[in-house]
Amino acid sequence: MTMDRRTFSLGGFGLAALAASQPVLAARKAKPKAKAAPAVAPRKPGQSDVIVLGAGVSGLQAAWMLEQEGKTVTVLEARERVGGRIWTLLDQPGYPEMGFNSMAEGYGRGLDAAQRAGVEMVEVGARYRFGAPPLLWINGKPLTRAEWAAFPGNPLPDKLKMLMPGEVVGKLVADNNRLADWSSWHDPANAALDISLHEFLKAQGLSDAAIHLCWDISPYYGINSWDVSTLMMEYNDGFIKGQMAAGTGSLSVKGGNIHLATGMANLLKGDVLLGREVVAITHEGGTATVHCADGATFTAPHVICSLPFSALRNVKVLPALEGLQAQAVGQLGYQPISMAFVTASAPFWDEDKLAPGMWTDGPLGNVMPQRYGATPEEITGFVVQARGNLALYWDRMGPEAAKAMIVRQIETLRPAAKGKIAAHSYFSWAGERFNGGDVSFFGPGQVKWLDEMIKPAGRVHFCGEHTAQGARGLEGALESAERVALEVLTA
Ligand SMILES: Cc1cc2nc3c(=O)[nH]c(=O)nc-3n(C[C@H](O)[C@H](O)[C@H](O)COP(=O)(O)OP(=O)(O)OC[C@H]3O[C@@H](n4cnc5c(N)ncnc54)[C@H](O)[C@@H]3O)c2cc1C
Repeated sequence: MTMDRRTFSLGGFGLAALAASQPVLAARKAKPKAKAAPAVAPRKPGQSDVIVLGAGVSGLQAAWMLEQEGKTVTVLEARERVGGRIWTLLDQPGYPEMGFNSMAEGYGRGLDAAQRAGVEMVEVGARYRFGAPPLLWINGKPLTRAEWAAFPGNPLPDKLKMLMPGEVVGKLVADNNRLADWSSWHDPANAALDISLHEFLKAQGLSDAAIHLCWDISPYYGINSWDVSTLMMEYNDGFIKGQMAAGTGSLSVKGGNIHLATGMANLLKGDVLLGREVVAITHEGGTATVHCADGATFTAPHVICSLPFSALRNVKVLPALEGLQAQAVGQLGYQPISMAFVTASAPFWDEDKLAPGMWTDGPLGNVMPQRYGATPEEITGFVVQARGNLALYWDRMGPEAAKAMIVRQIETLRPAAKGKIAAHSYFSWAGERFNGGDVSFFGPGQVKWLDEMIKPAGRVHFCGEHTAQGARGLEGALESAERVALEVLTA
């Protein structure tokens, strides 16, 4: 499948909304004080056409689209900041990203949102690929790709031995994708394909030892390969192929991705109320009422809920959700990922002549150099990342002990680093109360939840990356905002 940015991104509604927005945006440029004289009718707090729960990109985008159609919208956000899974450490060198990292060139919705938000996108893909490729560290010993291919402990079938462990699953799914049309992934006709990734990988000739190394040690989704739906992986693969066809660049926001979310929030005419944790939603008759932990209530004809299901499962919904939707809210998986940001006072990699990047099979996880200085040569720090079980293990240690362990591990594996590195922030997505994990994922047999779990429940509508049907990541979150805005407008 090929797509250009325009056809991929906007679709009918997006174009209409964008066109409709032009006069508003133009007027704002000419008259910067437009916010003081909003185009929408003044109202008392709590009286809106729509209440949006969550100020991540999906909630902000849905709010913006509805405002373009003349609706009054109030956004309620539990945290004291907007952005949700966009989170930049603005106090660290190079502004490391703890959440959303980059857009592909085919992220039409994302790029349009960035343009509206007034942020500058910069190409970062070449910076990821700059310098010596990361080394594989097995049992504490570094291996290049060629050394790994000849390594006696390499459990991969001969034709895959040249692949590094982190590359194997993606390649096998890409080469053996069973979907003729990946966009039909959630069609009930494909239900029989919804097997575990483990079964799929076994059928491709991987041993249990190979699966453990190539997935379970650093799983993209789940704790191990039994947790993950192959059908979802094939959808993911189709989306990536479409993106690659649109261009191979990777784009991030200059100065930190968090500016995208704040820019999107600043475009809204209605209130974005921070520190408003939603604890209950009641929906009966022609309205829905949202109850916040601070006792405030907000009533409107429609509520859009962008909360990840891992957060929504802690919110009381009355009348209760039912059937597969209730099951999905209760059980949808969210990926544990934990990270530490590490800086180096001197380039120890020049001293030991080893690549700065490390993929380890031990408690250190993955060490990823950040090249966000004036030139790609400059390493501004390292994001050290654990996924799956390792992330949960780090979390159990606690931030300080985990940071100390990370420094100790790097210094043990690379004595040249001794005394030259320091771990700063620690961030756990599983530990974040309002996320409970990084991205959502379906387990085997769970793809059938999707079409049911995104249906409105009375006056409550759902969006968020977990409800995306044709895109992934940030682009999927924005896609879901389009669907939900249309749903409210046509309800
Ligand atoms: C580490 C990491 C790396 C990523 N990298 C990429 C990438 O490179 N490319 C890509 O495309 N995508 C990436 N993503 C995914 C992308 O960031 C998300 O898909 C997107 O930001 C999700 O937006 P959302 O609006 O659906 O959810 P969220 O951003 O999670 O927004 C939901 C909001 O709801 C709020 N909330 C939760 N509970 C309550 C409550 N009770 N009351 C009120 N508010 C509440 C939360 O605080 C949050 O602000 C990454 C994500 C992570 C975590």
